[in-house]
Amino acid sequence: MLRLAIQKSGRLSEDSLKLIRECGISFITSSLKLKTESTNFPLEILYLRDDDIPGYVADGVADIGIVGENVLVEEGMQQLAVEQLGFSKCRLSLAVPKGDQYEDISDLQGKNIATSYPKLLQAYLEDKGVQANIHTISGSVEIAPSIGLADAICDIVSSGSTLISNGLREVERVFKSQAVLIANGGLNDEKQEILNKLLFRIHAVQRAQKAKYILLNAPNDKIAEISELLPGAKSPSILPLAEEGWSSLHSVVNEDDFWEIIEKLKAAGAQGILVVPIEKMIV
Ligand code: ATP
Ligand code: MG
Repeated sequence: MLRLAIQKSGRLSEDSLKLIRECGISFITSSLKLKTESTNFPLEILYLRDDDIPGYVADGVADIGIVGENVLVEEGMQQLAVEQLGFSKCRLSLAVPKGDQYEDISDLQGKNIATSYPKLLQAYLEDKGVQANIHTISGSVEIAPSIGLADAICDIVSSGSTLISNGLREVERVFKSQAVLIANGGLNDEKQEILNKLLFRIHAVQRAQKAKYILLNAPNDKIAEISELLPGAKSPSILPLAEEGWSSLHSVVNEDDFWEIIEKLKAAGAQGILVVPIEKMIV
C-alpha cells in the first residue's frame, strides 16, 4: 500500500482530496481521523500540517505527498518533487505599507522584513544584492508593519485582497508557487508501480480539465473546412443528420483554443454548437 500525506485542513486540503477522488479513488473522511485507507485502491492517506509533509516524505514515513512548492523549497527539499499539480497557485511577495516611498528593491536595504519564508526571501535578497534583517514569524505576517515589528513583509499572496485590507502594497514577486506531488526517492518496485498507476490517473484527469467535447451541425460541403479547425485526438467523428445534406461533427477541443476558433466555425457554416465537459481523457 502507498502512503500519501496531504494537508489536514487549510488551503491545499480540499483540492488535494478532490484530485484523489477524481482519480476514482474512494475513501471515507472524518475530521477526527488522521489516517484513512482507500476502499478501492492500495492507498492510505495521512492528514498532516503542510510544513511537516516534505520531512515525512523524505524520511519515508509517507511515500508521497502533496504540498505547496513554497514550503518544499523553503524546506530545501526540491529534489522530492515529481510534478506540478496546477492548483493552489499563489506567489510569495514583498509588500510595504501603502503610503511608504518605494522605488525598487534597494529601498529595502537595512530594513526589517517579517516573513514565514526566511530562506526563500534570503535567496531573493542575495540575488538582488540587498541586505536586510529578516524576522521569522510563523503567522499573521501581514500585521507586522502596523504593530511596529517590521518595515516590510514577505508573504503568500493570491488575489492581493489581504494585503490591501491591511494597508499594504505588493512591490516585488519573490517566488511563484503551486501544489506539487512529491515522492520519497527510495520507493520499492511495488510502491513505484502503484505511484505509476496513480500518475496515469492524475494525467487523465488533468488532460480532461482543459479539454472539451464539441458537437456541431454542418452542411456536408463544409465538413473538410470545419474538420481542419477541429482535428481532435485523431480526427472528428462525422454522423449523418436526418436532414439531407447535413452532418453532425464531434471532436475534442482545448478550452483556450475554443474561443479562438468559434468565429471561424460559425463563418464556415457550423450551427447548434454544443461544448460539454470531459471527465477523463486517455490518449
Ligand atoms: P497548516 O496548518 O497545515 O500548517 P498553513 O496555515 O501553513 O497550514 P495554508 O494557509 O493552509 O497553510 O496554505 C497552505 C498552502 O496553500 C501554502 O503553503 C501555499 O502553497 C498555498 N496557499 C496559501 N495561500 C493561498 C492562497 N491564498 N491561494 C492559493 N494557495 C494558497
Ligand atoms: Mg503550515
